[in-house]
Amino acid sequence: MQIPTLPDRIDPWQLAAENGRLDGELRLAALPRLAALLERTDGTVSVALVAGVDEQGLRFVEGSLRTEVELICQRCLGPLRLPLRVTVSLALVRAESESEFARLPSQREPLLAAGADLAVADLVEDELLLALPRIPRHRDARECEAAGYHAPSSGPTPDAGRHRAFAALASLLQDSKRNN
Ligand SMILES: [Zn+2]
Repeated sequence: MQIPTLPDRIDPWQLAAENGRLDGELRLAALPRLAALLERTDGTVSVALVAGVDEQGLRFVEGSLRTEVELICQRCLGPLRLPLRVTVSLALVRAESESEFARLPSQREPLLAAGADLAVADLVEDELLLALPRIPRHRDARECEAAGYHAPSSGPTPDAGRHRAFAALASLLQDSKRNN
């Protein structure tokens, strides 16, 4: 299947006026601010966005971005592959002040587009950066253990209590063996 090519730059106002679409793929390596946070940058981002004018007269860009990124788990410091599916819902505003004072519907975030020129990669990159977890971690602690991690005996995780209990039991058993 032919992957449609994305334009590098768009006029978002014109795109909205024409009910235009942005469909295609971007390389993660082409998003330097995001790539700086990733362990691997050989993936791509699937972009599926539409633009238009909504019933309140707001120019919007909405749709979804899909990718998979590799981060470092902050618990085990092992690699963490994380699929990202980001829902985009932006309303174009011409000035920062407009986004503060205009009553944007709550489901749309303001997208500052002062002029008629916007880099598609910047738009995509900003949305992905917002979607990254602030403290990436494997969801299941067993994945961390598979990466060679062992919970510290005084850690704040719920599992730590169980580990402590087992450790106490083990030392009791050892004591009783010694006493026999
Ligand atoms: Zn982990």
